[in-house]
Amino acid sequence: MWGDPKALSTRPFVTKVKRMAVRPIVKYPDPRLRQPTRPVTAITDEIRKLVADMADTMYAANGAGIAAIQVGALERIYIIDAAVAGGREEDPPIVFINPEITWLSEETIVSDEGCLSFPGIFVPIKRALKARVKAMNLAGETFELEAEGLCARAMQHEGDHLTGRLLVDFVGPLKRQMITRKMKREAEEEAAEAR
Ligand code: ZN
Repeated sequence: MWGDPKALSTRPFVTKVKRMAVRPIVKYPDPRLRQPTRPVTAITDEIRKLVADMADTMYAANGAGIAAIQVGALERIYIIDAAVAGGREEDPPIVFINPEITWLSEETIVSDEGCLSFPGIFVPIKRALKARVKAMNLAGETFELEAEGLCARAMQHEGDHLTGRLLVDFVGPLKRQMITRKMKREAEEEAAEAR
């Protein structure tokens, strides 16, 4: 997910990892975004590498959060930028492995939401104002995080990715068609540039 769209241009570019390994972001309408995900059963070197690459990819794209499925991995993992989660900008992102929403507030809020798999597209989405998520961290410890505002939104957005739910699923058929057309056009342009 993107942060506040208005802040995108002013937000400092953060490089926390010296050895950058940016993976290509899977963009809509790539069917891989709808694939079923699978739980992580052990924190292996492969998982640690995947999470490090997800962080590099998220920061390179100036994102606020990213799910593993957005870099083509099917593990149930997402990360959220530390500053979005109320921490310091220089802290590593919060890693959510096998996350589960345990509580959503009845109070909701509508706000423009973006996604790294839909560059340049923002749609108003109604979300619970507060959310609580239980997950495992990279040390294999279970934690529960309650958040409000942008972080709560990011947890709901990234959680949706793990069940294949995307921004276009929140809009009407006309807007959906418009977004799909725009994204297909961009994919074609990208492919043409790569040739
Ligand atoms: Zn997203």
